[in-house]
Amino acid sequence: MKVSNRKRVMVTGGAGFLGSHLCERLLEQGCDVLCVDNFYSGVKDNVTHLLPHPHFELQRHDVTFPLYVEVDEIYNLACPASPIHYQRDPVQTTKTSVHGAINMLGLAKRIKARIFQASTSEVYGDPEVHPQQESYWGRVNPIGIRSCYDEGKRCAETLFFDYYRQYGLDIKVARIFNTYGPRMHPNDGRVISNFAVQALRGEDITIYGDGSQTRSFCFVNDMIDGFIRFMESPSHLPGPVNLGNPGEFTIRQLAETVIHKVGGPSRLIFKPLPQDDPRQRRPDIAQAMEHLGWQPRVGLDEGLDHTIAYFRKIVGR
Ligand code: NAD
Ligand code: UDP
Ligand code: UDP
Repeated sequence: MKVSNRKRVMVTGGAGFLGSHLCERLLEQGCDVLCVDNFYSGVKDNVTHLLPHPHFELQRHDVTFPLYVEVDEIYNLACPASPIHYQRDPVQTTKTSVHGAINMLGLAKRIKARIFQASTSEVYGDPEVHPQQESYWGRVNPIGIRSCYDEGKRCAETLFFDYYRQYGLDIKVARIFNTYGPRMHPNDGRVISNFAVQALRGEDITIYGDGSQTRSFCFVNDMIDGFIRFMESPSHLPGPVNLGNPGEFTIRQLAETVIHKVGGPSRLIFKPLPQDDPRQRRPDIAQAMEHLGWQPRVGLDEGLDHTIAYFRKIVGR
């Protein structure tokens, strides 16, 4: 029997970049937060400041194994998100997405909890449709080096919708586009952390390919607002819903902006483009605007200032 009115929320992958921001926000809202993580790509340091909080609990656990807890809501974020991390142990990446989804859905079914899935713009692969709408089925290589992540996340979406149809589960599937901000790990390998750290250290900026590929970057605070709005939306809205910032930039533009902001001697250097790297990406967020009343507020310029200021403290320049 539940003895408190406080909402009990579990965040898997809670010690990662997005998860730690989400745990913080949920605590601010008065929730009781259970953070579950196996520290594959996240670090305990991301949440040590939350440990003294009386309504925060940290549990080391791998979601590919069953988990028996009692909560009211589940945010399933567990999964490495950066290509260098998810490609380090691709078999584990697929297991995390697929077995992890089965276990978390089984848990949600038993305890009748609403469950949110952190899906990704990678389900669209290297898209032929631009910008990407939720109705687009994607163009994904099933056997390439990104497939463990892309196909794992696609299969997780399938599982979410089958549990929704077959068992009437209350699901929320969000397709998250590239998100950045403070608390990204300096060695995370994603483009914004790489460029900021390289510029602050006065090292050359590594552009993969010719830098003409595009991405749309969402500041983390906006993304967390989107998560919470979606989770609180009526149960007839299972998604999938794109969450991201529609501002679109080439990787070369991003590199030049970071160098301009940081100053220093960094030059652009060009490295081979990884296999299956998507050529262009921009979310169509009409669904999120209409159904969640959500759109991002922080532009790349302001968001980069916050992020560079954070890395300046870490890198010490
Ligand atoms: P992250 O790597 O910082 O966080 C992921 C967390 O999951 C880490 O703390 C990691 O240790 C944990 N984890 C990995 N495998 C696990 C397992 N088997 N059991 C328990 N914990 C496990 O990445 P992030 O940027 O915070 O991404 C969070 C989620 O959002 C991921 O599911 C990712 O696919 C999704 N997403 C993120 C972005 C983005 O741009 N940040 C974009 C699209 C989707
Ligand atoms: N599961 C879990 N916690 C629970 C309930 C289920 O981790 O509280 C896992 C368990 O490993 C199970 C999976 O979720 O195999 C899927 O559960 P479901 O009830 O859908 O299927 P089944 O138990 O028949 O395999
Ligand atoms: N990228 C780059 N230099 C880097 C890291 C990444 O040019 O040091 C490129 C990468 O090839 C891709 C884009 O930046 O085209 C975004 O990469 P990231 O790994 O951040 O995210 P994803 O490819 O998963 O969208």
